[in-house]
Order: sequence, then structure tokens, then C-alpha cells
Amino acid sequence: MSYIIYNAHIHTFKQDDIPVKFLPLGLVRLLASNFGANVFTHFLNNMNPFSEKDLLDRYVKFIKTGKLGSQQAIFEKCAGYYPDDTRFVILPMDMAFMGAGNVPRNYREQLDELAVLKEIYPKRVIPFVHVDPRRPNYEDIFYHFVEEKQFRGLKLYPPLGIFPYDERLYPIYDYCQRHKLPVIAHCSPYNPVHFRGSNSELEQLLKKSKTPVITKDKSRKEICASFTHPSNYEYVMRDFPELKISMAHFGSAHYWTEYLERPGNKDNWFLIIREMLKTWPNFYTDISFTMSDPSYFSLLKVLLTDDQLLEKIMFGSDFYMVETESDERRFGLDLRAYLGEELFRKIAHKNPKVFLKTK
Ligand SMILES: [Zn+2]
Repeated sequence: MSYIIYNAHIHTFKQDDIPVKFLPLGLVRLLASNFGANVFTHFLNNMNPFSEKDLLDRYVKFIKTGKLGSQQAIFEKCAGYYPDDTRFVILPMDMAFMGAGNVPRNYREQLDELAVLKEIYPKRVIPFVHVDPRRPNYEDIFYHFVEEKQFRGLKLYPPLGIFPYDERLYPIYDYCQRHKLPVIAHCSPYNPVHFRGSNSELEQLLKKSKTPVITKDKSRKEICASFTHPSNYEYVMRDFPELKISMAHFGSAHYWTEYLERPGNKDNWFLIIREMLKTWPNFYTDISFTMSDPSYFSLLKVLLTDDQLLEKIMFGSDFYMVETESDERRFGLDLRAYLGEELFRKIAHKNPKVFLKTK
């Protein structure tokens, strides 16, 4: 029996939506020119294989997809790897306030372009609005795209410097709860995409924390993980128990590996999220990015033997944050074959359908 697949987590933002200091070593600017990208690829191919080649290689692919010219082109590239009627949750990014320099294109234009894509593919494209409450008029922007342009949910990216329980988000949570609009929140630690402004600015941002944040001897990546800690959502769930929230990446590969090697660590985000999925009826997770490593498939399959978790885990890929072009197709197919139709249907059809349902 066939069914419509939902990929509950992809990105189509363009290179113009990325701040100039987003990647290290001035890579964004270097790779912006075709000449720069080609020279750089050549340079990578001749490098010592025991270096950071993989990471740099990924940057090159990332920039190449981001340069495709339009969100439509990026979307169609992703959609080509899936059956024709597959539906995609598209998560835009407002990176203007992360302290990584100027973003060439205004965020509003990114959303306008996404709204046009929604008109071209009304069923297949399910756009969310990323809200960073440091943007003036963030509320008006959210309501406009939800009410006038059929955007279908709220996207959060806390490592950029926002706590999920930030009171500026509360009117939007309230609106989402009333209208059954879902929330997808990026949730992985030690993310390279995090607040990059000055230490004193970061200190100001951390003052809003409800729990003490230890900064001594910690890297910026580690400190910024405190913004996005899954336990922060306990406050939100208590205040908005009917609000549907999904933790993207299910704690990340870092914590899946930690669980497999040292299962005793109580502050393992994978364990915390697993517990919250059972505690809160409207709390969900997706397997995007994390599951691009097939060595985690078996643990996922075991998790899906739990009746409660079986209702809460959603399929997503995190296109185009994941490596090579062939991986996207392989990912969907390999995972589907590994899990079997019954389980795959659950995470790629039934659960996202329930999560995304607004009526
Ligand atoms: Zn993502």
C-alpha cells in the first residue's frame, strides 16, 4: 500500500541568507566565486587525507548547493531524490543576529521567496517561519506569513543566542497553541552554528538563563549549547502543554554515541529527550542529520519497539546540511529498507501528519 512520505526537516535558504563570517577562514567569500570554489576543491583533493578534509569538503558542497540560485532550484534538487508526491517541511533561517556579520539578503525576502515556492508546490511545500525575537517586528512577520501565505509552523534556533523560554516568544507560543501550529526547534550540542558576537554580548544573553551556566574553561560551542538544552523546554511545556514541539536531531550523533559507549551519563540529551517524549503528550523529535550515519539505524529500530516512542519520532533528513549529493537518496532508501514498511510508514507518514495537522 502506498502512502505519502513526509520529510519533516529540510532547508532551502540560499548563500545570500548566510552571514559573511558564517564559515571559518573567510570561506563564504572565497567560495562565492566559481573560481574560488574550483581552486579550493582542487586544493582539497590534493590534501593529506588525515586532515579536516571531510569537514572542508562538506563546506564546499554546502556552499555549492547554497549557490544554486533560487530556493526553487535547491528544493527541486532535494525533491528529486524522493517519490514525486513527497512533502517537505522547509525551515528558513534568520541569521542576522548571531554576530557573524552582515547577511546579504534581508530575511523578509527569503520568506517572500519561500512563499512563492509554496504557491508553485502548494501541497509538497510546508514552510515554517524562523523567529528570532531580536528582529524588530518579528511578531508581525510571523502572523503575516502564517495568515496570508499558508506557512504552517514556528522554527526556533536557540544556539544563535535565545533561550526557548524567552518571554518574547510567549505570544507566539500562545498563538501556535491556539491554532495547533507545530514548533520545530534545533536541538544539538556543540553546533558550529552558534552565537558569534563578543564575550560581553554573550554574557548579557546568558543572564536570561534560568539555570546557572558555567563558562569557565568552556569553548564558545559548549557555552552556546546551554541555550538549546532540551530541559529548557520543560518550562515551555509546563506553560503550553497543548503546544506541539519537536526537538530536531533527537539529541545528535554526539549523544547517541555517548549513550552506546557510556549509558550512565544522566545529562545525555538523547536520554533527556527520550524521557520527555514519554512525559509530554505533544513533545516530538526528528532524526534529521543524526541518522545520516547508518550505524545508528539499529538503535533507532529498537527504540521504535516502544509503543510511546513509536508515536513520537519523525523522519527528516536536514537537506542540504548533510554531506554528499548521493547521500540524500541513499538515506531515505536505506533507512526505509532497514526499518521495513510498517515502521517507516509510521515515522515518515503517520507521525508527521499528526504533528503538522492544524485542524
Ligand atoms: Zn536543520
